[in-house]
Amino acid sequence: MTDFEDLLANNARFARTDAKDRVPAIPFLPHKQVYVITCIDPRVDPSDVFGLALGDAIVARNVGGRVTDAVLADLAWISYLHETRTPDAPWFEVAVVHHTDCGSGLMADDELRHGFVARGFDDVALKRTAVLDPADTVPGDVQRILEAETVSENVAVSGWSYDVATGLVSPVVPSTRGRQRSG
Ligand SMILES: [Zn+2]
Repeated sequence: MTDFEDLLANNARFARTDAKDRVPAIPFLPHKQVYVITCIDPRVDPSDVFGLALGDAIVARNVGGRVTDAVLADLAWISYLHETRTPDAPWFEVAVVHHTDCGSGLMADDELRHGFVARGFDDVALKRTAVLDPADTVPGDVQRILEAETVSENVAVSGWSYDVATGLVSPVVPSTRGRQRSG
């Protein structure tokens, strides 16, 4: 048996529950109006860290939980849907969550990173992806969303640090709403 066969057995049990019947009627309006951006690290699964159930939140995950162009494009799309299809619904908050001991930090290792750059990736972009301390990287990523012209000004954005040792999430940037421009 492979691990995925275990997952299929779990799925058969899941399908017999009513969880799938208790999801939001409009998928871009989850039960809790939260849009979590965090790392793919299996230790930081927001379902467990934040106690999220099926249909509770939109979750975007990538290496580091970084606000990339792809993350911004998805966020722009969801906020566009919200503005055009459900203009009277309450607005959601985006929570940018970086964590301690993040594997993306290995991208700060010049020798390791250069080996990967040789496979066709951009050195500067990779180096920027490294999360060495959430307190250093979260503010810039929150700012990126607040500055994005394509993302609705109605979206609130906050920044957080998750400590994998204690299991606790602590604030880095308070919830902010509206277009913010730097400089
Ligand atoms: Zn990580």
